[in-house]
Amino acid sequence: MTRFGKQPARHKFFLNPHQDARFTSCPKCDGKTKLRKFPLFIHVNPLQPVVLNKSCRYCPYCDLIIAHQDEIEQQLAVLFMQQQPEVIGNDYLVIGTLDKADWRRSMKKPFNFEEMRDCLHDFKKVMSFEPTRYIWVKDDSK
Ligand SMILES: [Zn+2]
Repeated sequence: MTRFGKQPARHKFFLNPHQDARFTSCPKCDGKTKLRKFPLFIHVNPLQPVVLNKSCRYCPYCDLIIAHQDEIEQQLAVLFMQQQPEVIGNDYLVIGTLDKADWRRSMKKPFNFEEMRDCLHDFKKVMSFEPTRYIWVKDDSK
């Protein structure tokens, strides 16, 4: 995998396509996941890098970030609705994370493409899991 960002790779990542599995426990170690915000760097085709500060499920033991696909797509749609509705529905790739401080800087003064690359940490590994069980309870973390 070629690295896009210039910072060291970190975290494992799983984009969860299963709307009925919210992974309140880790699919890898079965420990409880925490709710944590990460500035996720997303590359939207054709050439539209965006950063979403997104609440994700996180397993500190496995260093695994789990983001729900439906939530990401909803946030992307809201974001592009105003400025570039023609981009909605294009493919996208969640590539890595930014440091909180860099993300805040980029909110004050938007980064150009090179500045983005300068502070981007690619994911170490992108994983995929099937839910081992579907949990039929209300997620009270929302
Ligand atoms: Zn785990």
